[in-house]
Amino acid sequence: MSESERVTMIHGAGGAVMAKLIEKYVLPYLGGFKGAEVGLEVLDDAAVVDGVVFKSDSHAVRPIFFPGGDIGRLAVAGTVNDLAVLGAKPVALACGFVLEEGLTFSDLERVLASMKAACEEADVFVVTGDTKVVEKGSLGGLVVNMSGIGRRSKALDHNLAVVRKYRSQFGTRWILDKNLQAGDKIILSGTVGDHGLAVLSAQEGLAFGSRIMSDVKPLNHMIGEVLDVGGVVSMKDPTRGGLTNALNEWSKKASVGILVHEDKIPIRKDVQAACEMLGIDPLEVGNEGKVIVGVVEKMAEKVLEALKATDEGKDAEIIGKATDEFDLVAMETVVGGRRILPTPVGDPIPRIC
Ligand code: MG
Repeated sequence: MSESERVTMIHGAGGAVMAKLIEKYVLPYLGGFKGAEVGLEVLDDAAVVDGVVFKSDSHAVRPIFFPGGDIGRLAVAGTVNDLAVLGAKPVALACGFVLEEGLTFSDLERVLASMKAACEEADVFVVTGDTKVVEKGSLGGLVVNMSGIGRRSKALDHNLAVVRKYRSQFGTRWILDKNLQAGDKIILSGTVGDHGLAVLSAQEGLAFGSRIMSDVKPLNHMIGEVLDVGGVVSMKDPTRGGLTNALNEWSKKASVGILVHEDKIPIRKDVQAACEMLGIDPLEVGNEGKVIVGVVEKMAEKVLEALKATDEGKDAEIIGKATDEFDLVAMETVVGGRRILPTPVGDPIPRIC
């Protein structure tokens, strides 16, 4: 990128363009710390330093209130979920507010009350933070940075012990993207596209015939149920760039192919219809209350059963598997052919988180 080139909205949209920005600008300056068990270069959902799982996430969703959620709930769920998908038990959060001049105290209180409710749901606390105010501009009310720490749990150790029954060469102590191997089954915990479409409807004042609600939710308890069963090697929340982006990250980091079946991917009918109307691929739209789980083949049915027994995971499906037949992400379509699912350029909907 030349000197005159500047950041555009697509650089924050979670796809190939954002990945290039991180690789070209962020890693050369901020990478290189050798003391992390899981460090910046791994580009996983969180890092591990001195046994502590550590994550920071900024939230700039517009508008700050949308069907099914708001920026406060999103900030708690986003950070909790990134800690939980490494297999950690979230412990405490740090919250940095950037408030825009003119934000009403009633809106601020609404966000804080929602944040508190989400913390109670996830069983975590905000223990430190910061507040700044900026002049009226384009923030849309406020921006929230949420950092968090998590620690090892008995459930994680049990899960890894189950993995090692089926895979003797499994050295890692955490659930990481790179762990996926040919033969592993891939489970999706529920419908995709709901969050992005809910935010888009609020941004554009669109009515879709039925009210599409965001799925934003802390998933640490559901993930705990899954780890209690065991056999999970990789786990990820398919946020910006959606399912397609998350699967491509796995494929690249683990150097393995992934084959999914279109007819197995749960999508609400109204979300599908709205996406068709808008020319958007629901598989590239961000989610905030779903996980994809890579699990050793022999444990896949049991993990699916445990997911289906939870409220958040009742629509879970085994959507595909990792394979060494090829090294990219492909989908068997409902009409029978196969098509490649390349890494999206970026999420089709701006500022969804
Ligand atoms: Mg994530």
